[in-house]
Amino acid sequence: MEIQEILSSLIRFQTTADRPDQLQAIVDQVDAWFSAWPWHKERFLRNKKHSIYLNTRKGRHSQVLFVGHLDVVPAEDPSQFEPRIQDGRLYGRGALDMKGPDAVMIRLFLDLMSRDPVPSCALMLTTDEEVGSRDGVEWLVKEQGIRASFVIVPDGGSSFRLIYAEKGALHLRVKAHGKAAHGSQPWLGDNAIDQLIRAYQALRTWVDAQARPEDPEHWYPTLNLGRIQGGRAPNIVADEAWMDLDFRFPGPTSPEAFLKEVQKILQNTGPFELEDLTTAVPVETDRSHPLFQRFLHTMEEVLERPVELAREHGATDARHFAEQGMPVVILYPIGEDIHGPREWVDLNSLETLYRIFQRYVENLPA
Ligand SMILES: [Zn+2]
Repeated sequence: MEIQEILSSLIRFQTTADRPDQLQAIVDQVDAWFSAWPWHKERFLRNKKHSIYLNTRKGRHSQVLFVGHLDVVPAEDPSQFEPRIQDGRLYGRGALDMKGPDAVMIRLFLDLMSRDPVPSCALMLTTDEEVGSRDGVEWLVKEQGIRASFVIVPDGGSSFRLIYAEKGALHLRVKAHGKAAHGSQPWLGDNAIDQLIRAYQALRTWVDAQARPEDPEHWYPTLNLGRIQGGRAPNIVADEAWMDLDFRFPGPTSPEAFLKEVQKILQNTGPFELEDLTTAVPVETDRSHPLFQRFLHTMEEVLERPVELAREHGATDARHFAEQGMPVVILYPIGEDIHGPREWVDLNSLETLYRIFQRYVENLPA
């Protein structure tokens, strides 16, 4: 089976979060392809999210771990679930994000079955990345103890840039409670919206003081006020208001340390209630790590050109490995329009990705 056939087969599964039958069916299909897998194979199921894990060694540790997700975001046009090939591109929902890379990894592991001796490699495929990875990667790493000396997540970046760092994230809702009064006598009340504005200005000042406008990569903390709501009418002093904030920050600051700073500032203008807290650990892989260096060199050998090392602002599943101290890299083949109506992947670039992975794995000590 060629990579392109595997990919076409994967795309025909409508693996959106609202189709648990399809999430199971696609993992069943992968499982069937590996029915002759002679080593460790495990299925996982949590909250209707299926995952599969293959390891050439016993247990849940490997030297190198490849990670993919088989779920996709919904398609407005159902024809996106029928792959279409044109000018060397394969169009379809998930072609790049990330059934294309999945097909490459599946082909790689099918080929490992005829290797003797076989290097220490594992493949983890999950079905809930697009909805937060709580029942997939997060659970498998935190609760099921899956570990590796080096982790490859082909689910970010673009055109074979090698991503070694991602910003951390802190999302939180800040709720203010005030005291209602008539709008004609605001001194009798305590306006919750005014409280939020003061808090926001203090946070804005703090974040902006850390900005370095001369840095084209914006590799410093940022803050977005995504939503603000409160009050009842023009002539009522608002007694309730809240705002949703999205902070992004580079490593090595931990989300806990960052939150402490935020809380300190809020205490000066508050009291406020904090809700809906979600955090992402920043990724910052040591570029001098031997397995990182080896991967970079393998990429350069296969691509026959220097590889750009890059950092990204968004968070991927890589954060769950970084949180446990595992070095992790992120890369993508060539393609465009992720989550869009014309998502495509370049088929030649999938072959290139295969050659990178294949050569990397081949040169690992057995
Ligand atoms: Zn993805």
